[in-house]
Amino acid sequence: MNSKLTIALSKGRIYKDTVPLLGAVGIECLDDPETSRKLILDTNHEHIKIVIIRAADVPTYVQYGAADLGVAGKDVLMEHGGQDLYEPLDLRIARCKLMVAGPCNLPPDILEKAPGKRLRIATKYTNSTRDYFARRGIQVEIIKLYGSMELAPLVQLSDLIVDVVDTGNTLKANGLEPIAHMADISSRLVVNKASMKMKHRLVQDFLTRMEQAVGVQV
Ligand code: AMP
Repeated sequence: MNSKLTIALSKGRIYKDTVPLLGAVGIECLDDPETSRKLILDTNHEHIKIVIIRAADVPTYVQYGAADLGVAGKDVLMEHGGQDLYEPLDLRIARCKLMVAGPCNLPPDILEKAPGKRLRIATKYTNSTRDYFARRGIQVEIIKLYGSMELAPLVQLSDLIVDVVDTGNTLKANGLEPIAHMADISSRLVVNKASMKMKHRLVQDFLTRMEQAVGVQV
């Protein structure tokens, strides 16, 4: 039996919030990704490695088995589609909301009463946005961006944006406000389907201990 485990994490919020959970199950990272340039980090367990990748790449690494497990935001998983992945555990970290937002002076019923033209929506969440508006029968033009979505309505690139919102301070600082709630977001533990079978004992043991660390029954 292959007894190695590779866990995919992204830097920043997810890494910071996942480290205490890993610590609670006895896994300590021996390098700090914020200061180290290493992309494969050793842990205090010789057989457990952590790979540091872009948040949006975590589902892909786990899907193809380049990592056995990963931590990814629900926003990223919705966008990816979640094919070939198990999503057994809500880690309840990095919580936020996926929202439609726009300038504060827009009519509150902007989505119900389309203004005689297709609304332009700037977002990096193109799939989730397309699904959301299609389900409501609202025709929109989606503009793909890779970041700083809040800028788009300020420079008339778009009417609205779709982005994750935590405190709402970034929206407010840019004269924007939430218009519609699309989904509650938190980070999930994802597992490669083949690893779940081939490394069952190891993965299941990790999952059970992580469940206990999160303090939930799944
Ligand atoms: P806010 O607290 O609403 O001002 O959020 C600040 C920025 O951080 C926004 O531009 C969001 O895109 C981003 N953000 C907030 N929460 C999360 C999260 N849980 N995961 C990833 N990005 C986030």
